[in-house]
Amino acid sequence: MPSRIVGGIGLSHVPSVGAVVDRNRSQEPAWKPLFDAYIPVREWLAQLKPDVAIVVYNDHAADFGFEKYPTFALGVAERYAIGDEGFGTRPLPEVQGELDLSIHLSEALVYEHEFDLTLCQEIAVEHGFLVPMNLCFPHGQGKDEMSGWPVRAIPLQVNVIQHPLPTARRCYKLGQAIREAVSSYPQDLKVVVMGTGGMSHQLQGRRFGYMNEKFDHWFLDQLESDPAGLAGITHREIMEQAGAEAVELIMWLTMRGAARGKRIHRHYYAPMTTGMGLITFED
Ligand code: FE
Repeated sequence: MPSRIVGGIGLSHVPSVGAVVDRNRSQEPAWKPLFDAYIPVREWLAQLKPDVAIVVYNDHAADFGFEKYPTFALGVAERYAIGDEGFGTRPLPEVQGELDLSIHLSEALVYEHEFDLTLCQEIAVEHGFLVPMNLCFPHGQGKDEMSGWPVRAIPLQVNVIQHPLPTARRCYKLGQAIREAVSSYPQDLKVVVMGTGGMSHQLQGRRFGYMNEKFDHWFLDQLESDPAGLAGITHREIMEQAGAEAVELIMWLTMRGAARGKRIHRHYYAPMTTGMGLITFED
């Protein structure tokens, strides 16, 4: 049987979640509702037993610099290091890659689907990647492989920082191409696709702290019921309605282009400066 996508997860990332995980503070009142929302998601994933997670995320200038920032960058490596975002390297196990699937994806996406990806034989992953992994998968704290992650992972880094950004529709089409590419890989692997970032937030300028919960709920509704229509949204519409950094939400459309099927979980929590959304689909 060829590989197949068994699920999709859209979820927010914020760097503070990493610090909370590392200091065992997830049961504190401010954080507990967020982590509790992931208990059923972890149970669901334990039953789905994915072999590989394709994590569509953005790097916040920890490993990718503004002097050359790729639009779409795919990890093509056996393993990925834990990046240092300026506070030292977090005590997390190295991320094991799935090299042969990465090679297949790169060839299928470049040759058949004409997505001219930047291919990376080294990526140090940071909170955009690690916080979703922290939330969805149990893992050890140490660096040794035995305490590692229950899935292998492939990072797909998207430029949502340095304009011009890829359009929402381009991100959605990339997800559709990933779906086809995964299903043409002959090895029997179960794949989940994660799209991370957002939801509403703005971390700069006069609108610092701006959020729009109504927009976030609308986005979740549309992502579920009409993703192809939602893909027509412009960067400007997202940024005006939900804050400048909410434009990270275009990465959720890559997940949704790849993952079909029934919505399983949905949760929203907004106690801080970023709308923390969660939605899953079982294919
Ligand atoms: Fe971010």
